[in-house]
Amino acid sequence: MVKCTICGVREAFYARLYSGEKLCAKCFLESIEYKVRATIAKHKMFEFNDRIAVAVSGGKDSVSLLHILAKIEKDFPRASLNAIIVDEGIKGYRDEAIEIAAENSAKHGVTYTVISFKELYGFTLDEIAEITKSGDLTPCSYCGVLRRKALNMVAKRSGATKIATAHNLDDEIQTFMLNIIHGDPMRIARTGPTYNDEEPWFIPRVKPLCEVLEKEITLYAYLKGIRFQESPCPYASAALRNDVRNALNRLEEKHPGIKYTIYGSTEKIREAIRERKPKIHLNQCAVCGEPTTGEICQACQLLQKINVH
Ligand code: SF4
Ligand code: ZN
Ligand code: ZN
Repeated sequence: MVKCTICGVREAFYARLYSGEKLCAKCFLESIEYKVRATIAKHKMFEFNDRIAVAVSGGKDSVSLLHILAKIEKDFPRASLNAIIVDEGIKGYRDEAIEIAAENSAKHGVTYTVISFKELYGFTLDEIAEITKSGDLTPCSYCGVLRRKALNMVAKRSGATKIATAHNLDDEIQTFMLNIIHGDPMRIARTGPTYNDEEPWFIPRVKPLCEVLEKEITLYAYLKGIRFQESPCPYASAALRNDVRNALNRLEEKHPGIKYTIYGSTEKIREAIRERKPKIHLNQCAVCGEPTTGEICQACQLLQKINVH
């Protein structure tokens, strides 16, 4: 029997290749929770009295985040936790996800708000995909921008002081690579573990899972018996992100630890950009009032595109 590197007592079931550790289930679960707590502390993600809105999609990352934050929140009686569930309107996919997200929220005594694209923008994502199918943007391009705006709007309405999203380390390095691929490296300054524009209409965003590998958060959810949606979104394969994910997974398989190295580089590059350009000034969109770097926010620009189709 191979013993766990940490406790030295129980049988190891998981080899963490990037660190050389072999872990038992208990020490593995604790290591994930410890890592999340350490990330939160390192980046000073929360104040003791924050009203935290967690974006819950029903996938393994967001329900695990909800689970971990609900646990941590017990140590901060003056903080509060609410879930925001965005219904993009994806037939045969989102309904199950919403049910799972709601079930997990209720299980932890967390109140939740469901908000739909249809309600906010007049279209479901399926309708947008149909209308724009001959265009050059994928449904994910619309989905990401419209979801971010929906989250900010609902969080603001509910008086939240922070939005926590469940992006994991893989998501973060994929986004970094995508910014490079799209020729938009300065955007890196507006991503990362925390982002705050210090404007009243912008709710600061934090990503407590940003240092956890996707594979390990999946394992966490399974071991904890957390119910999450396993089927992938029908639009996922169309995204360039998928190719980047596969390429990074192949690299990690051959060279364990490479994802953490890339992550470390993104942090250094972000710091360098932020030092050079300390404040990226956000304006209020001339159409909807939501934050934007230009005059009209990306969401309103996309909605204009849909309307002229
Ligand atoms: Fe939206 Fe794309 Fe994610 Fe599906 S895969 S939920 S369309 S961003
Ligand atoms: Zn152990
Ligand atoms: Zn706008």
